[in-house]
Amino acid sequence: MRTPLISIATRNRTMQFWLGCLVVGCIVPAALTAGILIFQSYQRERASLERDMIATAGALMQAVDADINGVHSAVKVLASSRALKSGDLRTFYDEAVAALPMQLGSNIVLHDPTGQQLINTIKPYGAPLPRETDLRMIENAVATGEPVVSDLFKGPATGRWVLGTTVPVFIDGKIKYLVGMGMFSDRLGEVLRRQKVPPGWMVSILDRVGTIGARTKDGEIQVGRKVAPAFLHDIEVTGEGTREFIALDGVPTLSAYSRSPRTGWTTAVTVPTGVVTAGLHRALMVNVGLAALLLLLGVGLARIIAGRVTRSLSALKSPALALGVGADIDVPPVEIQEFEELGRALAKAARLIDARAKERDLAERNERRMLLEKQAAVDANRAKSEFLALMSHELRTPMNGIIGFTQVLDDGHFGALNAKQKEFVAQILASGRHLLELINDILDLSKVEAGKLSVSLERVDLVPLMKSVVATLEQSATKLDIEIAAQDFGLSMPPVMTDRVRLAQVLINLGSNAIKYNRRGGKVGLSFELMGDQVRIAITDTGIGIPHERQVELFQPFSRLGAEHRAIEGTGVGLALSRRLIELMDGRIGFTSAPGEGSRFWVDVPVYRGAEIEETVAAIAAAPRRLYRSGFSVLYVEDNPANLALVRAILSTLTDVTLLEASDGASGLALAYEHRPDVIILDINLPDTSGYAVFEQLKRSPEFAATPVLALSAGALPHDVERGLRAGFFRYLTKPIDVATFLGAVDAAVSTKAAA
Ligand code: ADP
Repeated sequence: MRTPLISIATRNRTMQFWLGCLVVGCIVPAALTAGILIFQSYQRERASLERDMIATAGALMQAVDADINGVHSAVKVLASSRALKSGDLRTFYDEAVAALPMQLGSNIVLHDPTGQQLINTIKPYGAPLPRETDLRMIENAVATGEPVVSDLFKGPATGRWVLGTTVPVFIDGKIKYLVGMGMFSDRLGEVLRRQKVPPGWMVSILDRVGTIGARTKDGEIQVGRKVAPAFLHDIEVTGEGTREFIALDGVPTLSAYSRSPRTGWTTAVTVPTGVVTAGLHRALMVNVGLAALLLLLGVGLARIIAGRVTRSLSALKSPALALGVGADIDVPPVEIQEFEELGRALAKAARLIDARAKERDLAERNERRMLLEKQAAVDANRAKSEFLALMSHELRTPMNGIIGFTQVLDDGHFGALNAKQKEFVAQILASGRHLLELINDILDLSKVEAGKLSVSLERVDLVPLMKSVVATLEQSATKLDIEIAAQDFGLSMPPVMTDRVRLAQVLINLGSNAIKYNRRGGKVGLSFELMGDQVRIAITDTGIGIPHERQVELFQPFSRLGAEHRAIEGTGVGLALSRRLIELMDGRIGFTSAPGEGSRFWVDVPVYRGAEIEETVAAIAAAPRRLYRSGFSVLYVEDNPANLALVRAILSTLTDVTLLEASDGASGLALAYEHRPDVIILDINLPDTSGYAVFEQLKRSPEFAATPVLALSAGALPHDVERGLRAGFFRYLTKPIDVATFLGAVDAAVSTKAAA
């Protein structure tokens, strides 16, 4: 049954409908409340009316009682007649006949205590008289010794309704006679007429058995009739009160009655209920009429308002549509302020959208232009690289011919050269070699930039490599009177993981710069040291140094930082190429320089770990096994390939362990979010960020709240470890890796994760 309600509420309705609902919702409850108030006031009024009616009935009853009392007194006066005392009934008869007209009675009767009529004024004196058939009144008067009133009866002689009253006459302390007087019921009607009864009210007098003795309306018809037994019953039970009933003419009526305790007679005041409820009906009708009028007015008003709202809304329809298609907005004037504001807002939105669209257009145009420019630059760069590669390649062949044949001439196989010729040939040879070098460098650089140059990383012993580099450099150093001071490399240096030829090329390039940009009699030093996982090879000189303001240009191709103005051979390609080569080999290059004092260029090369790894794996395999957990995943974020390889090897000795590897912080985080590993191990020195930063990021993500994160770092000083643990790392492990400690830590981490 709820469905219709819901559908009314949810269905799409007109504004007029909703406003109509509002009107009905406001007016109907108000009308209902007014109705209830009117009804309550009616009830109050009716109760007070009923009280008034009962009081009136009581007052009328008293008037009737007073009249009957008067009759009693008159009869008592007659009963005290001396003629009666002396038994002179003839005289008494005359007295009675004389007294009758004053009393408005019908007749006067003298009874003996047995009910035998002795005198009756409607008969001549001495005529034979009957004994009363209804002895109740006589017996009652004899028993009480008090005057008694009878119920109504029809006079046998007149045929009119009569009531009798009788007064006992005591002679010598005994009841000898009873003097009674008959009265036409009209007398009671007279009493009623004398009372002031409100208009519309009707008063009746009833005897003890409910016979109507008098009535202010239709008395001639109603007198002698009996009231309904139920009404009589009410009168007998309550003595006074009200009763509602349908009158004989079918009109609903309300009667209030009051019964005399003295005579047992009752007066009833009757009003048609319509008279009582007319006020109520009127008030209710006015209320209903008013409500209907208000409803009509409200609905009409709702119609007008809805019309205005709809007109205003419709007026905004086309501006809204225009907004959608980006056309010009023309907001017409509307009647409702809010809608006018909406219209203004639409116009403003249109202007904003227009401005935004223009901005976007501009941004898109800029972006497109930038993309095109970038693409053009990339294309141009590639074209340049390809051109350079092609040209260099093509130039090498004739250069080989030039250098080869010049060497043949220089050797003197085809005849000795004179001194001048020899000098020229030497010049050709030197220039040719320089040109070839330049061509080779450009070829390499363009290959690197085109992504076509690959390096082959392998285990390389530094000592022989350094020796050959020193030997190469010494030739040019000697010419310039420069001393090369190479550190005694000894045998303590670990092998490195690099491309032998390319590392030598870089070192020779750095070394020749140190010689070229040196001063006569200067020094070039070659040294190296082990720094964690790296070997740092440094080349120092005592040369001209590099001006601070130009240091940013270093490593840019073809940038010679002013050396082009000096008579120093060079191309500006060497350092740029060196940096690209070193980076290809997982190494780093850097420098420090003091103008006028000299420079120090260095390269870091990763230490070769293969042997260590092999040994470690062998050691793990040989060691007594403790049972480690299996079936978990580890993310290891580490840029050093050797360390990665070692951890890979250690974890490979466990069963069913997935190792996720990342070489920098950003890709480590990406892997972590993608795979949600059970344990995360972070190197502290990452190329893009620090392990601490990665750890902070992980700590901020609720999904890693239960994931143990271990640090694995070369920083092994006590304060490093302390800082790591304070930061919240599950363990802070130091390099070189101790296999047992490492495995123990990983195992503990996996247990913790499993328990979480
Ligand atoms: P080239 O030596 O062929 O000019 P490089 O790329 O090797 O090109 O070097 C670029 C520039 O850097 C040089 O022209 C020189 O100005 C400066 N430079 C390089 N090494 C040194 C050094 N050891 N001392 C001073 N300046 C140097």
